[in-house]
Amino acid sequence: MSLIRTPPAPMNWVTTMMFVLTTLGAVVLVPWYGIAHGYQASTWVFFAVFLIANGIGITCGYHRLFAHSTYEAHPALRIFYLLLGAMALQNSALKWSADHRVHHRHIDDPDQDPYCARRGFWFSHIGWMLRNYPSGESDYSTVRDLQRDPLIVWQHRHYLALALAMNIALPFALGWLTGDIAGMLLLVGVLRLVVSHHVTFFINSLAHMWGSQPYTDENTARDNFVLAFLTYGEGYHNFHHMFAHDYRNGVRPWQWDPSKWFIRAMQGLGLARNLKRVPWFKIQRAMIDAQFRRAEQQLARHPGRAQIEQLRKRIAEEYESFCKVVSAWTDLREQLNQAKRAVAERWEHSTIQLRLRELEYELNFQHRRMRLLQAQLN
Ligand SMILES: [Zn+2]
Ligand SMILES: [Zn+2]
Repeated sequence: MSLIRTPPAPMNWVTTMMFVLTTLGAVVLVPWYGIAHGYQASTWVFFAVFLIANGIGITCGYHRLFAHSTYEAHPALRIFYLLLGAMALQNSALKWSADHRVHHRHIDDPDQDPYCARRGFWFSHIGWMLRNYPSGESDYSTVRDLQRDPLIVWQHRHYLALALAMNIALPFALGWLTGDIAGMLLLVGVLRLVVSHHVTFFINSLAHMWGSQPYTDENTARDNFVLAFLTYGEGYHNFHHMFAHDYRNGVRPWQWDPSKWFIRAMQGLGLARNLKRVPWFKIQRAMIDAQFRRAEQQLARHPGRAQIEQLRKRIAEEYESFCKVVSAWTDLREQLNQAKRAVAERWEHSTIQLRLRELEYELNFQHRRMRLLQAQLN
């Protein structure tokens, strides 16, 4: 990835001072108080609960619900997300979503992507917020749908009051109840905020730099299990940038994506519905497409060798069969849509669906065959 130099811009002192003071609090005051007075076990429990709740508020709420509309949520759940999002101190849901939609639309464009990873780790992690860069100006025309939601508008209007209430008044009240106000302010107020900030920021920085690209190499987004573990499932960022309208980021059943499980649990409770999923065939198609592109690059590195030429032939055959399966699938999907519109017989639906599933299996085998061919190319 070629790095792009960031031109200077005027400092944003309010945000910078917030980061400086909270970081100093976390690295100086938090350990000092721990050594001098110690923390109660209940304070650590509240720290963990609010850290996780902030993460869920940002990933399931700000990101997957508000920015990408990957499902619909009951007003009670939306209020829960909006309060926790204000606690995470990452701006109002409206501003956050506006910036994030621009990030998706102009990914890696140094002039338009607000946290463009090609401008380096520091810039994409935190630097983009410390100065008033032209690329960081929010474009609210991207969030007209959200501006029609009275709850989002309410949070946007009262963001400062909500942020102060959730970050100061709430830990103060909890500390008063448990008898350790200073300890609660330090762990639940300060340390929770700093950890929650950097965990989210990793998605803009490291998740665009470190990991694999199983679905597309046309942008910098990466899939990374370690980051997924730290970020409540958001580390499958290559998948996310390819299929941003899917409520899942870790699409495989075994992939660590607690946000996906939380949304499903909310569906079970009747608080979420219309969870959007990309058909598995399309996901496989993207993976195999990426395999062909990688194979193409590997073949180009060793031209002329007899064994390579043989592999080239086999890969070309695979590609031909891939195109046939994809076009058969597209035709069948069209047939299925027509059958649905015509209120066709149930057996007709199930025959088409059975054939679609067969094509999915076929692609699955092809994915494995391509993996074996690629192993020979390495
Ligand atoms: Zn991204
Ligand atoms: Zn996104």
